[in-house]
Amino acid sequence: MRTPIIAGNWKMFKTIVEAKEFAQNAKAGNTSTGVQKVICAPFTALPALSAELAGTDIALGAQNMHFEEQGAFTGEISPSMLKEIGVSYVIIGHSERRQYFNETDETVNKKVVAALKADLVPIVCVGESLEQREAGETSDIVRTQTEAAFSGLTPAQVAGSIIAYEPIWAIGTGRSSTAEDANETIAIIRSVIAEKFGQETAQQVRIQYGGSVKPENIASYMAQPDIDGALVGGASLVADSYLQLVNGA
Ligand code: PGA
Repeated sequence: MRTPIIAGNWKMFKTIVEAKEFAQNAKAGNTSTGVQKVICAPFTALPALSAELAGTDIALGAQNMHFEEQGAFTGEISPSMLKEIGVSYVIIGHSERRQYFNETDETVNKKVVAALKADLVPIVCVGESLEQREAGETSDIVRTQTEAAFSGLTPAQVAGSIIAYEPIWAIGTGRSSTAEDANETIAIIRSVIAEKFGQETAQQVRIQYGGSVKPENIASYMAQPDIDGALVGGASLVADSYLQLVNGA
């Protein structure tokens, strides 16, 4: 059985002070077990969160990193810099990074390789735009993105990764995908993994849904056989709401 995973993606929200306040509230209300909990915070808040969440079962994630280990890459953060401050997950290829920061399937693949090499769990984002969905291209898009992201990896590396299916039109819009539609596309992603890396790997890899997930709709996604959790933006910013998502999983 795959352990469900609820990952908060704070995007460019929260100062250090605000992050600490979240952590204190989350610790106080954190009672559920059996769900993996991850908070992906801005780089600047990570060290404070790492100290605040030490000894809890809430893990830390980054929202991006560079694929090189060190060098003349002004403004970038390396995988080992993340490891050093207690980060264990990293979101890779979020649609906002693909759209605004020129990330491509190729750089996503390099980052996935680098993350795994550094013993960070990549949360690899795939998903179609509204235009692509309306043109009936959803399965082609997620296939291409999934194949590219995991190109050259071993089945064990893929099994240890997380995939987040996030239809772009559902992100931050309040217009979530129906649970059935999300499950259908996630099942396609799983079948792509099965083709490339074998059935066993496909049954092990965890695939989340993301896009306007809230405490009110989390249960409908979790009831689907292929959905193993959620990557959540807006509804992860308040500790109480994040914990409700965890409880709903
Ligand atoms: P949202 O964002 O939950 O605010 O729609 C999800 C994401 O971008 O990961």
